[in-house]
Amino acid sequence: MDENREVLMKIENLKTHFPVKKGVFKRTVGYVKAVDGVNLEIYRGETLGIVGESGCGKTTLGKSLLRLTQPTEGKVTYTFPDGRKDVLQLKGTELNEARKHLQIVFQDPYSSLNPSFTIFGSFNDPLKKFGVKGKKEREELVARLLSDVNLPRDYMTRYPNEFSGGQRQRIGIARALSVNPELIVCDEAVSALDVSIQAQVLKLLKKLQAERNLTYLFITHDLSVVEYIADRIAVMYLGKVVELASTEELFKHTMHPYTQALLSAIPIADITKKKKRIPLQGDVPSPVNPPSGCSFHPRCPFCQERCKQEVPQLRPLSIDGSIHYVSCHFGEQFAAGNLPS
Ligand code: ADP
Ligand code: MG
Repeated sequence: MDENREVLMKIENLKTHFPVKKGVFKRTVGYVKAVDGVNLEIYRGETLGIVGESGCGKTTLGKSLLRLTQPTEGKVTYTFPDGRKDVLQLKGTELNEARKHLQIVFQDPYSSLNPSFTIFGSFNDPLKKFGVKGKKEREELVARLLSDVNLPRDYMTRYPNEFSGGQRQRIGIARALSVNPELIVCDEAVSALDVSIQAQVLKLLKKLQAERNLTYLFITHDLSVVEYIADRIAVMYLGKVVELASTEELFKHTMHPYTQALLSAIPIADITKKKKRIPLQGDVPSPVNPPSGCSFHPRCPFCQERCKQEVPQLRPLSIDGSIHYVSCHFGEQFAAGNLPS
């Protein structure tokens, strides 16, 4: 998309399908198409936001990139210091080595912090595994990491349950940083926190990004969070990217009816910006049997005959000098305000 920027990760036709099994013989009767043909480039140093309703495949996408879930098909080319490699083809030590570069922070930091270990204990193993030999050296490193996330050094002797949600999330971030990664997947990393704490953690993430030239894939269902943190946003619906643009452009010239519906659900303080509200009807359909044609068609207020039959491809569209990638047959008309009816 932008020739001047270094592509750190290139995701091509990524599919992660989970088999649905039934009966005593556990026959496979279908597949949950959690991620169903995603193409994305992630630039070094950027924050790429992934948004969409619950169940649209965001977590599966994030986990697939790190091989925490095994994808079914596709290619994930990562620019390692010693060259480009397909993460999906890595095995054994090569995969372990790759994990130093790619980390994930979950909504619930409990999942990465053992409740029966002190904070130092939780950091100790990964640091040993990644070759930090002496105990003194590891202690100094943990102290430095804690200070990087604005926590005092003596916290390393305490247990996870002694901390507030915000503090635990800072510790989760410090733990991800402990192996000096380049790309961090933040999966709903601030979604469980109060708004004021959210703002602090988001600020911290921005500070760390600037200091360490980190790249974030920032997954959230919360559009106001992603508007604050992301440089670009990919909107996901039923395992596919339906719109991709810079954050500013996505909010200014929305080209996909699904994005518009998501946006109209967030309160806008400035009344001059008020747009026509599009209610989002019904729930996300099952990813086992996605609707024909455009998978958003049963919920789209502008659905035409063509939308029920023909699968729209993600394609570049330009309006007022703004370029978006959109998978809607009527993206141009929609963005220009000539809504089909
Ligand atoms: P999101 O993070 O956007 O809420 P998920 O990636 O968690 O979405 O889930 C996408 C779809 O895949 C959902 O329908 C979910 O039920 C299904 N799913 C996720 N993980 C598994 C799994 N391990 N086995 C079967 N289905 C799964
Ligand atoms: Mg999720």
